[in-house]
Amino acid sequence: MALIVQKFGGTSVGDLDRIRNVAARVKSEVDAGNQVAVVVSAMAGTTNQLVSWARDIGPMHDAREYDAIVATGEQVTVGLLAIALQNQGVDARSWLGWQIPIRTDDVHGAARIDSIDTTLMRARLASGQVAVVAGFQGIAPDGRVATLGRGGSDTSAVALAAALDADRCDIYTDVDGVYTTDPRIAPKAQKLERITFEEMLEMASLGAKVLQTRSVAMAMRHNVNLQVRSSFSDAPGTLVVNEDAIVEQEKISGIAYSPDEAKVTIQGLPDKPGIAAAIFGELADNHINVDMIVQSAASEGQRTDITFSLGRGDLDKALEIIGGNKEGLAFQGVDSKGDVTKISVVGTAMRSQPGVAKTMFETLAERGINIEVISTSEIKISVLIASDYTELAVRSLHSAFGLDSED
Ligand code: ADP
Ligand code: ASP
Ligand code: MG
Repeated sequence: MALIVQKFGGTSVGDLDRIRNVAARVKSEVDAGNQVAVVVSAMAGTTNQLVSWARDIGPMHDAREYDAIVATGEQVTVGLLAIALQNQGVDARSWLGWQIPIRTDDVHGAARIDSIDTTLMRARLASGQVAVVAGFQGIAPDGRVATLGRGGSDTSAVALAAALDADRCDIYTDVDGVYTTDPRIAPKAQKLERITFEEMLEMASLGAKVLQTRSVAMAMRHNVNLQVRSSFSDAPGTLVVNEDAIVEQEKISGIAYSPDEAKVTIQGLPDKPGIAAAIFGELADNHINVDMIVQSAASEGQRTDITFSLGRGDLDKALEIIGGNKEGLAFQGVDSKGDVTKISVVGTAMRSQPGVAKTMFETLAERGINIEVISTSEIKISVLIASDYTELAVRSLHSAFGLDSED
């Protein structure tokens, strides 16, 4: 007998028939003699609708009220799935974050899980009852509901699997595994049988939303046995594993893209200590995350340009902050672009293979795609390009790195 955590995403619980289908999948694990905790998302589209209502009623809203609104989608699906299971003769009950409880920090809207008390749930699981758990939510120290950031049900599932010391955590979604790139924009993408935690972490943080980044980090830390598979077929999925489980990696693993990026260049800054600290310190104080940063010599004398990328949603705020400190920073001008995409090539094979950057830059150049900013780490190279070229860049790189499927 094993203890299994299953997680079903928005499309998988998108209507009542699909919820019945999920119940049947849960039932088959129960019938096989396993203890099962199921984490569910809101029905596809629901959270987007809730977020837009919260924004429309007040753009500068109270984050605690935002959470009160957006956490409701999962409350509906846990109740529906519990009933569907009961109707199929399976003992089941729903659990909201606060009922378990899943305790989080106080960062409403993007909270981190601090602890999960599994005492009550373990007793119920041991008695044969299925736990149907609302993903994406917990309870903050102020006693109010907190949500975990978009895509957060993956993290709820992995955290629950770690807390319960589960034998497996299966993430059921609308694709049958992790692919070499998003199969929706590259039809020649191939399913990976295995991917390392490290590569999956990079892929997720660089835009592959098949798993929320935090869920991968947590699975890696707690050594959770993690698998991504389809809700709609029995095809084998993708295992996320430690690096030593993969023998020799010759190819890069994948191409990720993150479409909602923006770029800012501050021109003609005085070239002296403390300038970068002043700019990025102020942005950080205003909760703006900056990603790639490049500093280059300006054409005239003792001046320099700094270019950085950030989430498109933060662009206006960042420009306002920088513009408001023109005298303090003594720069000459600011230029910005709101329609850029970050494209990344990811793979541990890069450690032992020179020439990945060369292939990447040449491929983009052959297609006439201009690279605006570059950044690298040990196992990835990212570039910023004009958004119009996203699909062309992803497909061309996929091909250039030998990842295309045969048919
Ligand atoms: P869920 O609602 O089940 O959580 P998501 O929409 O969050 O599903 O994530 C699944 C989607 O991730 C897929 O439909 C696919 O378009 C996208 N995706 C992006 N990159 C990849 C990749 N490398 N492999 C698989 N899917 C990817
Ligand atoms: N429903 C939430 C979202 O859409 C959480 C999730 O689906 O993982 O972001
Ligand atoms: Mg998701």
